[in-house]
Amino acid sequence: MQAHLNKPWDVIVIGGGATGMGVALDAAVRGFDTLLLEQSDFAQGTSSRSTKLIHGGVRYLAQGDILLVYEALQERGIVLKNAPYITGNQEFVVPVYSWGDLAMYGAGLKFYDFLARSLSLGRSEVIGRKKVLEKLPLLRQEGLKGGIVYRDGQFDDARMTIAMAHSCTDHGAIVLNHFRVTRLVKKNGKTISGAVTVDGVTGHEYTVEARVVINATGIFTDEIIRMDRPAAKPNIRPSQGVHIVLDGSFLESRSAVMIPKTDDGRVLFAIPWMGKVVVGTTDTPVNVITNEPVAMDEEIGFILRNAGKYMIRQPGRKDILSVFAGLRPLAADPDNPDTTREISRRHKITLSSSGLLSVYGGKWTFYRRMAEETIDKAAAAGLLESRPCGTKDLCLVSLNGAGKESRFSVYGKGAEEIENLVSTNPGSGEKLHPAFPWTRAECIWMCRNEMPVTLEDMLARRTRALFLNARASLDLAPAVAAVMAEELGWDSGTVENQLATYRNLAENYLSNW
Ligand SMILES: Cc1cc2nc3c(=O)[nH]c(=O)nc-3n(C[C@H](O)[C@H](O)[C@H](O)COP(=O)(O)OP(=O)(O)OC[C@H]3O[C@@H](n4cnc5c(N)ncnc54)[C@H](O)[C@@H]3O)c2cc1C
Repeated sequence: MQAHLNKPWDVIVIGGGATGMGVALDAAVRGFDTLLLEQSDFAQGTSSRSTKLIHGGVRYLAQGDILLVYEALQERGIVLKNAPYITGNQEFVVPVYSWGDLAMYGAGLKFYDFLARSLSLGRSEVIGRKKVLEKLPLLRQEGLKGGIVYRDGQFDDARMTIAMAHSCTDHGAIVLNHFRVTRLVKKNGKTISGAVTVDGVTGHEYTVEARVVINATGIFTDEIIRMDRPAAKPNIRPSQGVHIVLDGSFLESRSAVMIPKTDDGRVLFAIPWMGKVVVGTTDTPVNVITNEPVAMDEEIGFILRNAGKYMIRQPGRKDILSVFAGLRPLAADPDNPDTTREISRRHKITLSSSGLLSVYGGKWTFYRRMAEETIDKAAAAGLLESRPCGTKDLCLVSLNGAGKESRFSVYGKGAEEIENLVSTNPGSGEKLHPAFPWTRAECIWMCRNEMPVTLEDMLARRTRALFLNARASLDLAPAVAAVMAEELGWDSGTVENQLATYRNLAENYLSNW
């Protein structure tokens, strides 16, 4: 490992979420020697806690930010094209309870289609009450006038990050999880020339050098900026967003619901995802920056109350299978801190006088564009030579060889290897737990190919068990730990520790019912 790290790099990326992984991929595809360092696990932060939409952002249209929506819709088209199997085309229904709203939202969503142009996922249409109820049989009927159907992209955010990590390594980059950056290194005390990083497993410290260091640490952006300039003003205004996960029977539909206006004027989604329904989100300014945010009681209450207004089967706390919170790394004006709703969802890319490039804010949907702009900026500043971006047509999930689709297609070229594992040991194709689709063969393959270090890495992000059903994930945990023990050489003490740590973590996803 040390020999690998010692090489002088062209690019070091700090942060392995959507933004950092996107930047590392862009740099690697342009042929730069790239190292990515993630303090926890890939996508452990905000990037595994999104609403799971690849979208233009219908609500930004209402706010008049047409350029943002247009650009995001173009990126939506690119992401969906480049990541089949992980992304999908999702139908949404906006139920409407007044004729005025029907006309207004209908026109707005037609404009949304228009902005997507050739990358449209299907035309939106105004539909009558009867058709709304055919699509959403469990929707509250009283006062319903009709609805609008439109389409957006949906995906598995953590799986997408892992697919990007595979693609990074395919293009020669090294991506390391559980490597925290603790200091920046400066040449002559002036120009940034590298970073100091600590291996979270062994505790070893390494100094790594690069032509450019890129800070893509989301809500931790200011922490890295202050390693460069200790007195820097804050650039990030964190805002917490919570989702609850309910059983699919609360929606009984393949269509998602979009409620344009809740109690606080925000949009609320109820989206079918992996057999369950994800409902959210909230937007609560917070001051504590942590990599494991916890849903507040009021946030859960807000979601249940607002969702309950539209659902015939009223969800209660006891129905929540999992609750997860994420912190939006909103790009604030350092001289004018603002409330989060008014802060732009746009990203920012800054270059300090000592050469630290920071990229933050934005959306998952925009990760590729953010990465392209970041590497372009490094080139414009003379930190790297100018080379064309190659990610627009870069397929992230290809099936290799014959390209035969299978139930394991989300793993791209790994699908064939998992099929082979199943055929040599048919029992390994069985589900590990009845509540989840994952098999022993997939877990073995993930251990061998996807760098899980902790039990949480497997249960929260390689599989999504923690997010889908926190309680059932506790029952699944021993079986996954047993696979990890076999594959990673864990002794019984390690297995016990991992199970105990995971039980503590899962408490945060169980709400307090
Ligand atoms: C509730 C919610 C819903 C959302 N829904 C959507 C959606 O549906 N669609 C959409 O397009 N966008 C959505 N977003 C926005 C999107 O999720 C974020 O913009 C995106 O995930 C941010 O990614 P990031 O890589 O910048 O941050 P993160 O994912 O937080 O990654 C930063 C990484 O840096 C690492 N790090 C920090 N410090 C160090 C260090 N010292 N050394 C090494 N590593 C370090 C962290 O561990 C972390 O993994 C949503 C956001 C929230 C909060």
